[in-house]
Amino acid sequence: MRKRIIAGNWKMHLTGAEATALVAQLRATCDLDDVEVLVCPPFTALAAVREALRGSRIGLGAQDLFWEAQGAFTGEVAPGMLKDAGCAAVIIGHSERRTSFGETDQTVNKKLSAALGAGLAAIVCIGETLAEREAGTTFDVLKRQLSGAFKGRSAGDLQRVVIAYEPVWAIGTGRNATPDQAQEAHAFIRRWVAQTFGQDAAERLRIQYGGSVNGGNAAALLGQPDVDGALVGGASLKADQFSAIVKAALETKAVAN
Ligand code: PEP
Repeated sequence: MRKRIIAGNWKMHLTGAEATALVAQLRATCDLDDVEVLVCPPFTALAAVREALRGSRIGLGAQDLFWEAQGAFTGEVAPGMLKDAGCAAVIIGHSERRTSFGETDQTVNKKLSAALGAGLAAIVCIGETLAEREAGTTFDVLKRQLSGAFKGRSAGDLQRVVIAYEPVWAIGTGRNATPDQAQEAHAFIRRWVAQTFGQDAAERLRIQYGGSVNGGNAAALLGQPDVDGALVGGASLKADQFSAIVKAALETKAVAN
């Protein structure tokens, strides 16, 4: 079975105290066995959230990392530092990192390698812009991003990877992909993984959809056969919305493999 995975990307929001208060609310509804739930606070709130999560099944993740282990890289955070801060996972290649901070398929590749090398799980984000979708190049873009991110990786590495399909035009816009659009892209991604790493790796791989997921649209998206979870931005800051998404994940059937 591919266990559903719902991750909250808190972006540049919440102080330690605010994050602690949100975790207290989430613990009441999202501390589950059947769905994997992960929260990804800003670096400055990791310690507070780690403490607030103590004894719960909700996992802790970071939103980014740098690929070097240590050194003169002012402002950067190393993979081992995230482990030390209690992180089990890290988001890599979010479109906001690509668009606002110049990340490329090559930097995503280096970050993925560093994350896996440090024993972190990775959520690797890919997705096309609106212009790319309208130009009919969505699958070319996804293929390029996948080939770049996973260059040098093995089928075994994939066991600690989740791919998040996040169409850029759906992130933070309130305009989510339709369930059919999401399914089409997820099926493409799974086929690419099957061709590159084998059928077994493809069937095990969890693919999240991200882009304006909320309590109202989660069930329809998660009801698609190749949608194994959600990466949630805005709605992850609201306990009732995030809980509703987790509930939808619990109620939609996980795929047997
Ligand atoms: C995200 O940041 O990954 C995201 C999907 O944001 P939102 O849910 O706000 O669209």
